[in-house]
Amino acid sequence: MVQTRERPKPVLEPDFCKGCGRCIDSCNRHCIEAGTEIDAATGLIPVKLHLDTCNGCALCIDACPEPYGLQAEAPHLPGTELLPNAPTRPKLAESIPDTRVPLPPMRPLVVKGTYASAIGALLAGCRHFYGYPITPSTDGAELMAKLLPYLDGHFVQAVSEVATINHMYGTGGAGLRCMTFTSSPGFSLMLEGLSYMVGAELPGVVVDVMRAGPGLGNIGPEQGDIKIACRGPGHGGTRTLVFAPATPQEMLDLTMLAFDKAFEYRNPVLVVADGYLGQITGRVDLPEHMVKPGLPDWAVWGDAAHRPNLHTSILLNEADQEAHNVKLQEKFARMVEREQRADLYQTDDSDVLIVAANTPARTAKGAVAALRKQGIKAGLFRPITLWPFPIQQLLPVLPRTKAIVMVEASTGQLEDELRLAMSLADVHAPPPITHVRHFGGIMPQMNEIVTCVRAAHEANASRKGRETEAGEAARVLS
Ligand code: SF4
Ligand code: SF4
Repeated sequence: MVQTRERPKPVLEPDFCKGCGRCIDSCNRHCIEAGTEIDAATGLIPVKLHLDTCNGCALCIDACPEPYGLQAEAPHLPGTELLPNAPTRPKLAESIPDTRVPLPPMRPLVVKGTYASAIGALLAGCRHFYGYPITPSTDGAELMAKLLPYLDGHFVQAVSEVATINHMYGTGGAGLRCMTFTSSPGFSLMLEGLSYMVGAELPGVVVDVMRAGPGLGNIGPEQGDIKIACRGPGHGGTRTLVFAPATPQEMLDLTMLAFDKAFEYRNPVLVVADGYLGQITGRVDLPEHMVKPGLPDWAVWGDAAHRPNLHTSILLNEADQEAHNVKLQEKFARMVEREQRADLYQTDDSDVLIVAANTPARTAKGAVAALRKQGIKAGLFRPITLWPFPIQQLLPVLPRTKAIVMVEASTGQLEDELRLAMSLADVHAPPPITHVRHFGGIMPQMNEIVTCVRAAHEANASRKGRETEAGEAARVLS
């Protein structure tokens, strides 16, 4: 007796169907139609199968570009095994770790801040750069354009900042190290894409060389992007590490660190410099190693093992979206716990604490030295991470601090971060805070800082005098 068996019919895996319709065109029995329901996991619309007249020709399976979109169902003959050539899921990808390649000892470089950051990116294994020129950040992009072709890298001048950040979304999704240089108006345009990257948990490094605003402003230095860098960036519950270098050396070091952290947390990382720091030239020692990037198992890589990977920031099911937010918030809490960084200068005995970041911190450091010569115990607290604000490093200094002087090239955005961090740390009676602020391209000057600290010092002395008198009066009356 001749045994016959049915040819296997197609089985659809909706989460792997992108709704391209190729299978619809391939089926001459009209068994497949376009879908109407959005798949909650992917945000795409999978096709629908009606297999009553299907003869198992498998043309639709051949037409499907997705390895798991359509598969042949297992044959139903009792006692038979899967056909030897039946599709099986390939082994899932495994992460290939980064390797650190030792560098030979080299003489220090003398380079501007943007160049130092670009060199740091290359040493961190970045081989993909996207950007749209904007002063005062363009020099960094220009250096990447010159060097990347010699390193098998890719430089793309995007059509806009919006395109730039979405190129980064794709490259980060492929598990590759990518970056951009931008400046304040360009950074604003990237916020939506940054939110998508945070939502989809994709790495990338944005170096924002801040210039004066609001609006187009001018090309002078400012720190007016601290608010959007630290309080977002972008819509939704987003957070990114925000590094604030103060020297060309830190432009290199913190850019390298930014790549490590972007991949460690699967999140974009921001390096915010001011326009002055982008242009200032300084000595830069090269590190002892460079990074040869591996490949994370989550990368969309185009081979069978990585094919199930999908990165999206859309979760149409409300419960799924809330659960995703909870997971992101837990990740941000780990950043707060582990990543606070600050530089403390002469704070062991300081009465008046100056708080400043980027170039204003360099000026403030000079002011501390001048004030010490005048007998005033001033110290400098320099946040290296603006988010998370390094409150862990500040708390031990606060009990002996009689006054705080904020020095910044913004309308008080760093002061807002300080006040919020102290409030969240339950510092309910902080020292009095005064400030030296400039903006519009003008930086705080050393003589202004000295004058402000002297005023804070004298106000504290007279306050102490009044408290002593009041205490004496109370003692006499009692
Ligand atoms: S197996 Fe052939 S008949 Fe069945 S749905 Fe696919 S193309 Fe149509
Ligand atoms: S060909 Fe594959 S991916 Fe395209 S609609 Fe059909 S099942 Fe979906």
